[in-house]
Amino acid sequence: MAKITVVGSSSMDLVVTSAKRPGAGETVLGESFKTVPGGKGANQAVAAARLGAEVTMIGCVGDDHLGQVILDNFKANGVYTAYVEPVTGVESGTAHIVLAEGDNSIVVVKAANDRISPGYVDKAIQAIREADIVMIQQEIPEETVIHVSELCRAHNIPLILNPAPARPVPQAVIEAASYITPNEHEAEILFEGQHLAAMLRRYPGKLLVTEGKAGVRYFDGIQEVVIPGYHVEVVDTTGAGDTFNGALAVALAEGRSLPESLKFANRAAALSVTRFGAQGGMPSRSDVEGSL
Ligand code: ATP
Repeated sequence: MAKITVVGSSSMDLVVTSAKRPGAGETVLGESFKTVPGGKGANQAVAAARLGAEVTMIGCVGDDHLGQVILDNFKANGVYTAYVEPVTGVESGTAHIVLAEGDNSIVVVKAANDRISPGYVDKAIQAIREADIVMIQQEIPEETVIHVSELCRAHNIPLILNPAPARPVPQAVIEAASYITPNEHEAEILFEGQHLAAMLRRYPGKLLVTEGKAGVRYFDGIQEVVIPGYHVEVVDTTGAGDTFNGALAVALAEGRSLPESLKFANRAAALSVTRFGAQGGMPSRSDVEGSL
């Protein structure tokens, strides 16, 4: 079984659907409200677990009601939670999502996720050392992203960096990562004004740029390649990127080739957009294999 360790955020998504997105100073009437577990780290952990991997989460929740709901959700999805600590006196992370006009707008409040320090990760070093692959995103402090990349390099563990939300990343982290998975917008911010084609060539088989329904683009050492996405009826694209990353980790940890792994990830992510919610839409192994 593939062993995957995620160092990342977990939070509750507070999701409003509305016909219209409010502008600055404007109030609109919404149509519905739901709370669903989210956070990029948690989403990627759940995506990988649904696809059959043995997943360990390293993260923090608040000592509030939401923290317990987040922990219960990990357990319900078979994610190992010994390294998810409720932090005293701190709120759980939340994401405030408006689904309107066919797209989402999101405000993230990191709260407990800011407590995932390098020292905190050190206490869970065993989960990193024993992993086939480690995954990180950018909803945790930058110093922790740097630290995890150093640990993975020191212990020779492959690392997937999903550089979301978009922000520049220290060059040492880019060098230490085995795979980097920005969407097109994140890629622009990551490489600040440099041409994407040049960056793809500079990081062959490492820089994997997701392009929504078009699929994923990378440089294979000879040429730019696009592994095409799958055509599906879109219900909710929230979590497509997280499903993609979780599935990519599973396929790579199982020893599949990069093109095969990207195909698997595209397939899983396409299935995820046909259902509501980030985690709600994440497919099982048989869902993905049944449709390949
Ligand atoms: P999100 O923020 O919505 O979770 P993202 O912006 O991080 O996603 P995208 O490039 O939009 O990342 O999507 C990631 C992957 O999900 C794509 O490479 C593709 O495999 C799949 N995907 C996304 N949108 C669609 C879609 N409409 N139809 C089919 N597959 C999709």
